[in-house]
Amino acid sequence: MEIIVARNSGFCYGVRRALQLARRTGKKAGGQVFSWGEIIHNPEVIAALRQDGIRVATSLSQLRPGDTVIIRSHGVSPAIYRALKKKKVKLVDATCPIVKKIQQTVDRLSRRGGEIIIVGNKNHPEIQGLLGYSRGKALVVENEEQARSLPFKKKRAVLAQSTQDGQLFSQVVGALAERTAELQVFNTICQSTRVRQVATAELARQVEALLIIGGKNSSNTNKLYQISRRLLPRTYFVESPEDITPDMLRGVNKIGLSGGASTPPEVINKTVAAISHSSQQNSNQEKVTHD
Ligand code: SF4
Repeated sequence: MEIIVARNSGFCYGVRRALQLARRTGKKAGGQVFSWGEIIHNPEVIAALRQDGIRVATSLSQLRPGDTVIIRSHGVSPAIYRALKKKKVKLVDATCPIVKKIQQTVDRLSRRGGEIIIVGNKNHPEIQGLLGYSRGKALVVENEEQARSLPFKKKRAVLAQSTQDGQLFSQVVGALAERTAELQVFNTICQSTRVRQVATAELARQVEALLIIGGKNSSNTNKLYQISRRLLPRTYFVESPEDITPDMLRGVNKIGLSGGASTPPEVINKTVAAISHSSQQNSNQEKVTHD
């Protein structure tokens, strides 16, 4: 069986950078070290960070003055920064610089008139952080239908979560353009996300089945699944090689793999090995290529 791994699969720049900063901090910081929420949604990585002395904090009550707190790549709202500073903890800010720029855009827009529309998942930490910069002027829209239900406005600005699906963003922008006299569009989908989405779509057109690998609660991995599924019905979402069932591979000679921004490279490699092994067992010759 031929196995093709999509370009840009696995950790994005922001997640890699946050993990490096966290590991470095774990080694040199004295006292207790926490990340504010899970740095990535992957139990193995979280366990490895715990070995390095980094625990996950989900509430201010866990923190004591002098502790070190790492802000993950999604960033946080100004209110969270203030609350952490009040706790007198040492902050290590691993917010992705691209997310920082989006926060600055929201902050700038919030000082002017007009509504701000953020296209994204309202429960995602990046969006929660962005809302904190909007001075109450932003509205989160998750899909085209929600955009179509909005009233006509004189002035609006629209931007996206950094990992948003490009097609969904265009649909929302189209719907808003019909309901807004002056619409300013900021395409804030990051380059790493765009490349990954395009590579996944290209791969879906070339293969007979495609496995999207990543955490089920990872928003960007879910988007990759939707993009591939639109083009290829035999698209499957797996968190690890253990989730692969014989049905997913049945009759397939060419399979694609794509991983989200928070999918560790080891999980992708293990998935390649598992498919390869299963294919060998079925006495086929496998060939692994990287797109
Ligand atoms: S997806 Fe893009 S913006 Fe978001 S953390 Fe990764 S590199 Fe940064």
